[in-house]
Amino acid sequence: MNSSKNNIRYKEYQADVLVIGSGYAGTFAAMKAKARGLDVLVVDKGRAGLGGKTPWAAAFQCYDPASGQTREHTLESTARDSDYLVRRDIVEMWHEDSLQRYRDLVAWGAIEKNGEKNQGDVFRQQLRKNGVKLLEKVAIVDLIEQHGTVIGAIGFFNQRATAVVIKAKATILCTGSGSFKVPGYPIGSLTHDGQAMAYRLGAEISGKENVDPHETKKRFLCHPWGAYGTEYQWPILPKFDTLPPPPMKDGKPPIDGCAPSDDPDYVPLDPNAPPPPPPPFPMVEGDEMTYAALRGDVPVTPQVVVGGKGQKGPNVMPEDEELHFSATAGMAMHRFDGIFTRMGSHQTGVTGLYAAGDATYSAINGLGVSSCGSSVQGARAGIEAAEYVSGLHSLPEVNEDDIQQKVELVFKPLQREHGYSPAWVTQYLQNLMTPYFVLYAKRAETLQAALMNIEYLQKNVVPKMKAKDSHELRLVHETANMVLNAEMKLRASLFREESRGAHFREDIPARNDEDWLAWVIISQEDGKMKCTKRAIPDEWKPDLTLPYEKRYRKRYPGELEYRGAELNA
Ligand SMILES: Cc1cc2nc3c(=O)[nH]c(=O)nc-3n(C[C@H](O)[C@H](O)[C@H](O)COP(=O)(O)OP(=O)(O)OC[C@H]3O[C@@H](n4cnc5c(N)ncnc54)[C@H](O)[C@@H]3O)c2cc1C
Repeated sequence: MNSSKNNIRYKEYQADVLVIGSGYAGTFAAMKAKARGLDVLVVDKGRAGLGGKTPWAAAFQCYDPASGQTREHTLESTARDSDYLVRRDIVEMWHEDSLQRYRDLVAWGAIEKNGEKNQGDVFRQQLRKNGVKLLEKVAIVDLIEQHGTVIGAIGFFNQRATAVVIKAKATILCTGSGSFKVPGYPIGSLTHDGQAMAYRLGAEISGKENVDPHETKKRFLCHPWGAYGTEYQWPILPKFDTLPPPPMKDGKPPIDGCAPSDDPDYVPLDPNAPPPPPPPFPMVEGDEMTYAALRGDVPVTPQVVVGGKGQKGPNVMPEDEELHFSATAGMAMHRFDGIFTRMGSHQTGVTGLYAAGDATYSAINGLGVSSCGSSVQGARAGIEAAEYVSGLHSLPEVNEDDIQQKVELVFKPLQREHGYSPAWVTQYLQNLMTPYFVLYAKRAETLQAALMNIEYLQKNVVPKMKAKDSHELRLVHETANMVLNAEMKLRASLFREESRGAHFREDIPARNDEDWLAWVIISQEDGKMKCTKRAIPDEWKPDLTLPYEKRYRKRYPGELEYRGAELNA
């Protein structure tokens, strides 16, 4: 046990590769790095395989060339479903590796004979069995950087305020994603910690303007499940003779050997059927109705609903079941915003720092593609980090003064006699961000108003949060990350002056291909948040010779009228 200047004790650990997070991405990253003979340490603020979103995932979908689907088809459909913002390099990784990741899971026993999945315990067993060191219930607060290189991380044991300092040659962020939910919703896995840590060190973040209401039914405008998922997921399921499925369940074929979907829209798949025809135009029907509900023309009653496997959470649902939607509850944002890794790689742009899974931007979604995509990316990140480490002989020299300063900063909220409770700040933040007119049907003036509040929080409230114990200490740091993420979401939403994908600007309800076939990249410059545009490669763009209405089949409310008015102006 070491101690810092002010006698804050800390435990020190060392590893070749540090993996933060132990869901699909973290587990695969650790296993791959370990298989290359390295000393690997996995840290999770919860329990291995049981934190984050991994325990919720049921379907796991991979690409099987034997299914008859071509890569061109999936590339084109994922591009179209993301309004051309998908990272095609990551789709290609999924083409290459996903089947093998499925086989790994079967070999580990994470997919049982009846198709049920059992990641949690299996992930922990596999990590331990293979000699990966595991630290559970340790929340990582920040990365340690020296001369532009990440050399580890700093955090503390959640249940006793003991600081942890980890020195490592390479670090992989597999910290999952985050979201803004209704007040009272538990925030533990919604806090975007990895993005915040990477951003503070200069990594690029993208996709923050997107929203992911997920539990929402298909009538919700900008519904990403409909927009990104259903159109392409069925044709690319592997053929059952390649991956023998477990027995039928409830009369439905299982999805890629996993539990069948309980989605009421689920249509049993005939493995021999030709790919379904393109959806009718317009693709999403009923937007107008939901839009009316959002605007308050339909009564809305708060209720508690169950979504997913026993998942419970406060929800907001119109009284009319037919109009079932939930703008704010359910699943968290994932894969549509995150760390923008280098093309074809999981390198973050910061030396020694890698990222994978929901923590990264890919804009690939669809039933089973998220868990599978996180597995694919995790494995690749583990290999890349291992290759980087193989060129380094020893752990970098660490400046002890810097570490001690960081430890003191992490624990400062415990020493404050007066300050804001993190629970109060989170309530305020959730109240501010979740109304439909802030993040869903956006307008410049409402975004500006919310941003003004966030700027106030950043300047006057976040630095004065106070913790009375180690539990509150974790909440303080998570809340600070959420406030930072709120700023990113609002700035990116203001910056993208069009509607695209899961970003709907009520005041600009149409795509603008001339200016916005581009990613919004967020980075830090001189301590300030900056948004820039990065054009997507020309060969990834839609066929610009097609008329607009054919190029994009999903309509935003008011889109065609807006375009008509623009053209006539
Ligand atoms: C209800 C629900 C249903 C879903 N269903 C499906 C499905 O059927 N099919 C599908 O493909 N996908 C599904 N998904 C999405 C899928 O679960 C995720 O895409 C996937 O699990 C992400 O894996 P990951 O490893 O990237 O992140 P996560 O599983 O979220 O893991 C992140 C880990 O990092 C840890 N962590 C975070 N911050 C810190 C920190 N500061 N310090 C230490 N540890 C930290 C967390 O505790 C967690 O264990 C579903 C998600 C939900 C919520």
